[in-house]
Amino acid sequence: MPENLHKLFVISSPSGGGKTSLINKLFEDTRSMNFKKSISDTTRQKREGDINGRDYYFLSEKEFKDKIEKEEYVEYATVFGNFYGTSKEEIKTKYNNSNLVLELDWQGAYAVKELFDDARLIFLVPPSLEDLKQRLVTRNLDSPESIENRLSEAKKEISKSEIYDFLILNDDFDKAFEDLSQILFESISALDFDSRVPKDLIKRLVE
Ligand code: 5GP
Repeated sequence: MPENLHKLFVISSPSGGGKTSLINKLFEDTRSMNFKKSISDTTRQKREGDINGRDYYFLSEKEFKDKIEKEEYVEYATVFGNFYGTSKEEIKTKYNNSNLVLELDWQGAYAVKELFDDARLIFLVPPSLEDLKQRLVTRNLDSPESIENRLSEAKKEISKSEIYDFLILNDDFDKAFEDLSQILFESISALDFDSRVPKDLIKRLVE
């Protein structure tokens, strides 16, 4: 691992939780100059609009398994029946001179926290499961079957949010972006961060 490490941020949310749009907006911001986004490997099928090397590196299952065998991943996990993983090479090249943003599921977040104790883990909390479903339907990228699958996984994912340092309520894009900006660009600490997530929301969502 490189020695001159900077800050490392992991952003998670249930599928449809809005992380991709928020992360895209982060990288349009001039304050993101010293930030890079880690691009994961995946074996999932390309969706419409996906670009290899921008959204993911799309690998065959054999290619992915070969890389597992050669211990080329910092972490990898199976999400919705496909492999997703962060390669050591990706971290090595991008983390050297930058802060790094990783968009991972909870398994990836837990693994990164084990390896990098000062990684900041950020979880985007949907205001309701209905809201999540609406987003998945509106983005029109998944089959009805896949949407149901993603919704049932959402509860599990939300139940893992307790180990995250920052909980952002994603009820309003601008407010969520403002919260995310404070964490990334203003380096606010978890103690000083004023989370807008109501105390009992997580409990209600996972019930
Ligand atoms: P999607 O297929 O919708 O782009 O992503 C599905 C899930 O996989 C999301 O929760 C995303 O955060 C997660 N994911 C993407 N890349 C990685 C990775 O490299 N490692 C892990 N553990 N999860 C990932």
